[in-house]
Amino acid sequence: MHTFPRRILPVFIPFAGCRNRCVYCNQNRITGTGSGSLLENASRQISDYLSYSDKWDELAFYGGSFTCIPQKDRLALYELAREKGFDRLRFSTSPDCVGNDVLDEAEAFGVRTVELGVQSLSDGVLSLNKRPYDVETCLKAIKSVSRRFITGVQMMTGMYGETAADVANTADSLAALKPAYARIYPTVVLADTELAELYKTDCYIPPTPAEMLLRTAYAYAALTSAGTNVIRTGLQSTDSLEDSIKGGFYHPAFGDMVKTLIILIFLHNYGEINASQADIHKFFGYKSLARKHFPDKIIIGEDFQTSLPEICLKAKEHIFENNGRNPERNSASYAEELIRQTHNR
Ligand code: SF4
Repeated sequence: MHTFPRRILPVFIPFAGCRNRCVYCNQNRITGTGSGSLLENASRQISDYLSYSDKWDELAFYGGSFTCIPQKDRLALYELAREKGFDRLRFSTSPDCVGNDVLDEAEAFGVRTVELGVQSLSDGVLSLNKRPYDVETCLKAIKSVSRRFITGVQMMTGMYGETAADVANTADSLAALKPAYARIYPTVVLADTELAELYKTDCYIPPTPAEMLLRTAYAYAALTSAGTNVIRTGLQSTDSLEDSIKGGFYHPAFGDMVKTLIILIFLHNYGEINASQADIHKFFGYKSLARKHFPDKIIIGEDFQTSLPEICLKAKEHIFENNGRNPERNSASYAEELIRQTHNR
């Protein structure tokens, strides 16, 4: 299983290398960084972090398509990282820019981890959302990056034009490739994006909040049950993000709600969860909903403990029926109950 080194210094390079703008993306809002020259901006961020602490294990370039940046600028960023004392790096990038030449270069500069923005493995969804590659390119990219680097993938749920079946296919296909880690981002409509226009004219109608939970729970369960470490579920909360949300479901506890839904579905359909005294609270769920519904099924078992991948493997089978077309009735009602809980203080 992939484990992060303890301290990663994040450098955000919004839109760097992006040749077009994906319909949902306003990277400045998501990361909360302003505009400015790429190198200056990166240098300032690194200096700021180094002024708080000099104990960093690795530097990460996030928020753009690192390997699509023109080589001159990319080399300048690598050199900057080196000058600041980093010999271990990671970046996120687009699957259409990971040819052998850029991967050789990355290895030479100490890159150990590459995160690919996959988002969907449906050609229709990729094209509607203006992602600049197709499924075949993406699958090849994951395979070639995985041969040389620790590989992370990002996927989205609730994208423009997406169905629940698309999410299930994407998650199952990604899980089969066994990336080391994954982040799952539910789509929200941000100001100053093409998606905001599509939303305003009813061309994009976001899935209901309960449906978003179900789709994301499927993705989480598929990846986790295959041994991928899902390190983030939901967008990171920042003031600039929250101020710019125009539509879709956003909640800072989205990740907790997704895990709670999986636990509820597991407990509804199967036996009990055994956990150690120290870990038992992890299974009580968002607002203790799992404990309220199944007080006798979450028990302390010092000799035997139920694993999260095992819960996910079984719960996954009870999220959707009819090849991902409809949610199972009980699963849908748990998702709705979770959403209602967000209104109760
Ligand atoms: S590739 Fe990533 S950073 Fe670039 S526009 Fe698309 S979502 Fe935004």
